[in-house]
Amino acid sequence: MKAGLLAAPGRVTVDERPDPTPGPGEVIVSMAACGICGSDLEKVKGNYRATQLIGHEPVGTVAALGTGVTAPAVGTRVFAHHHVPCYSCPACYSGAYTYCPSYTKTNLDPGGFAERFRVPAVNVSRGALLPLAPTVSWEEGALLEPAGCALTALRIVGLPPATTVMILGLGPVGILYARLARTLGAGWIGGGDPSSLRRTAAGRRGVDASVDPRNVEKVRQLVQLATGGRGVDLAVVATSAPSAVSVAVSLVRRGGTVNLFGLPEAGSHLEEDLQQLYLRGLKVIPTYATTERDIAEVHALLAAKRFDVRDLVTHRFALDKLPEAFELAAQPEKALKVIATGPAYSG
Ligand SMILES: [Zn+2]
Ligand SMILES: [Zn+2]
Repeated sequence: MKAGLLAAPGRVTVDERPDPTPGPGEVIVSMAACGICGSDLEKVKGNYRATQLIGHEPVGTVAALGTGVTAPAVGTRVFAHHHVPCYSCPACYSGAYTYCPSYTKTNLDPGGFAERFRVPAVNVSRGALLPLAPTVSWEEGALLEPAGCALTALRIVGLPPATTVMILGLGPVGILYARLARTLGAGWIGGGDPSSLRRTAAGRRGVDASVDPRNVEKVRQLVQLATGGRGVDLAVVATSAPSAVSVAVSLVRRGGTVNLFGLPEAGSHLEEDLQQLYLRGLKVIPTYATTERDIAEVHALLAAKRFDVRDLVTHRFALDKLPEAFELAAQPEKALKVIATGPAYSG
């Protein structure tokens, strides 16, 4: 079978790999679609080295079950989550599931960009395979993981009704964040991104107004105008650019929250006036990744058509064109969400 892998920093290849077979408790999934995530792009740039495995947003059809597995049945359309918490450690007991020490210990083999991939037994037993409702398309399914990350973030930072939000970085996950916040009852939502393609997509649903943040003064004016000079309740850093953090800090009201949502550039530092943070009572809250519960909740919103993401997938590439897909996904003026498609994809 074909599998898309990160051969070296900067180089995505599509290799021939032996077909996976399921061990006890494991499941094999025939891939239909898998999105290219911003963190995949950072791995290719050599900016994120926690793992060199790419592809963690896959949906597909259950192709084979290992001994001891009875569900989901062969043929079921599923989303497969690559990481799972243990649910029995201090981090998990406190609700910080994505910071569980065992959360990143398992992964899909050989990753989501493969014609077929193996889901480890521990993932299967902890609910990492989510059956898709018939009303949820493959492309919507491929957005479940990033949308789940946005829901996990909103759950952690809190979103009281009518919260004002400013999102810096309107890539696919920034837009998902905005649309989810809208669905869940946010008030005014603003956005900043240098790409006009992204600002337009954000403006279709989710974001009330957006600007090019290369002119920081314009960002500040937008927020001042929308909040009567107070600043937003919540500023979201949905980009890896370190400079966005300082901008976000300057946009929130006293007692407000800055959510570090995008993967920060490796080696970047928080350089803020600590006395100002102290006196203004700002909360700076990082949120990383997502959980089965939040993915299931986003899925329910999608199935009920309360949350529309169908316009976000702008390009589809067959798996053997994965290197071209990565090249395009790295160009914010040309593409929003780029997905790779596999043998189970049928439009
Ligand atoms: Zn992702
Ligand atoms: Zn745990």
